[in-house]
Amino acid sequence: MPDLVTPTWDYAPAPEARDLASIRSSYGLFIGGRFVDPAEGGSFATVEPATGQVLAEVGEGSAADVDRAVRAARRAFPRWSARPAVDRGRYLYRIARIIQERSRELAVLETIDNGKPIRETRDVDLPLVAAHFFHHAGWADKLAWAGLGPDPRPLGVAGQVIPWNFPLLMLAWKIAPALACGNTVVLKPAETTPLTALAFAEICQEADLPPGVVNIVPGAGETGRALVEHPGVDKVAFTGSTEVGKAIARAVAGTGKKLTLELGGKAANIVFDDAPIDEAVEGIVSGIFFNQGHVCCAGSRLLVQESVHDAVVARLQRRLATLRLGDPLDKNTDIGAVNSAEQLERVSELVAAGQAEGATMWQPPCTLPEWGWWHPPTIFTGVAQSHRIAREEIFGPVLSVLTFRTPDEAIAKANNTTYGLSAGVWTEKGSRILWAAERLRAGVVWANTFNRFDPASPFGGYKESGFGREGGRQGLASYLDSGAVG
Ligand code: NAD
Repeated sequence: MPDLVTPTWDYAPAPEARDLASIRSSYGLFIGGRFVDPAEGGSFATVEPATGQVLAEVGEGSAADVDRAVRAARRAFPRWSARPAVDRGRYLYRIARIIQERSRELAVLETIDNGKPIRETRDVDLPLVAAHFFHHAGWADKLAWAGLGPDPRPLGVAGQVIPWNFPLLMLAWKIAPALACGNTVVLKPAETTPLTALAFAEICQEADLPPGVVNIVPGAGETGRALVEHPGVDKVAFTGSTEVGKAIARAVAGTGKKLTLELGGKAANIVFDDAPIDEAVEGIVSGIFFNQGHVCCAGSRLLVQESVHDAVVARLQRRLATLRLGDPLDKNTDIGAVNSAEQLERVSELVAAGQAEGATMWQPPCTLPEWGWWHPPTIFTGVAQSHRIAREEIFGPVLSVLTFRTPDEAIAKANNTTYGLSAGVWTEKGSRILWAAERLRAGVVWANTFNRFDPASPFGGYKESGFGREGGRQGLASYLDSGAVG
């Protein structure tokens, strides 16, 4: 008998046009408003995660290149910071509008270089990137009214290092507030996803941004290290792993540089027994399977009240069986490719640890493409708090399900982590949302939703998730010398 509750749908391929993005065979570094060759001639390949094919050779910034870029930013700083603030805002508006005009092309480029589905780059990443520039364009001439002192001053040169999971969005989170506040920047994109940052460099040229205000130096960890340790940098903004964040904190300690760290997470997504279960299941899915789970604030620990555990897991499994994994450029794809072979290995190692430690693994039937790097959506039930999959950040499409009996137990388990970036609460009671939000030690608490972002809303963590906030009025404080706290 056909299953009338979950009919099977067949989808014809609906690929977005790949040639919307033109990818050059090689790229240089963007320093002082021009694309230049790396001083030492080094380069690295950026690879398409969905196929494993090389997309382009990208110039690798050495310490000498970082020095050139920091000098260019220093030279640009006095004039940029002295410009009328309304003028700085105009540049940011111009950049925001160019991003909107080129958003289809940028979405395709991001999907090809990162592996994430076009549906997400088109509907989430790019709209948020433009929104960040628009939001901060509006702030540029209103800084004196931001509650950060009557005359807040820019810090100077910001050295910014970003990860590969939201390449253009993390760039926007860093560059938009820095420029609005009158700083100049040197940004290092992640080594597996440099292409949209280089496209952004072209946008800076198109917007006639004065040379040296934005410099982009691709490279790997050594390039990042040279940047954060450069004495000409006044402010370091880092998003990435807790391990590297700690090394950076040690490197800049005592130098007088201002530092913000946006690091890892192991968020609890708490489902109480009075939650609307179908809505909660949608939130659980977007909480952990959005962007293949490569999300610092992913709801990777599902805490379900024991009385509804079986119902929630059953509906979750039914829902997961409908997710489509495959070509990231196909508009029907829900789950794209894992960003790199290295990341797939990390995820697989933790999945094996989950099985070895005694949790029960479930995966929907799912055919993985032959080429590239893929991981099926995975749920572990029967997870104990001591298991590695409950403690360590997996950064992949893997959900660990734990249970609780009382609200106090839910909070205790949710807070039993070295991280503190985000959390989710599902309940129909407003009072319970407020009660839980007061007790959860997390920078962001979502109620009856998950993974929602807005440039006006500050984002950042506690404990090993880092410190400082990005977005909102608080995010401006990280780029201003005002003596005030956000
Ligand atoms: P990573 O720390 O390995 O790399 C991040 C960036 O730092 C890359 O550009 C890398 O080249 C650079 N880097 C590496 N070593 C460095 C060093 N010694 N000095 C300076 N720079 C160095 O992290 P990743 O694997 O690219 O990204 C995943 C991590 O990022 C996860 O832990 C995730 O939670 C975190 N993340 C956090 C947020 C947030 O807002 N809190 C957002 C996205 C990702």
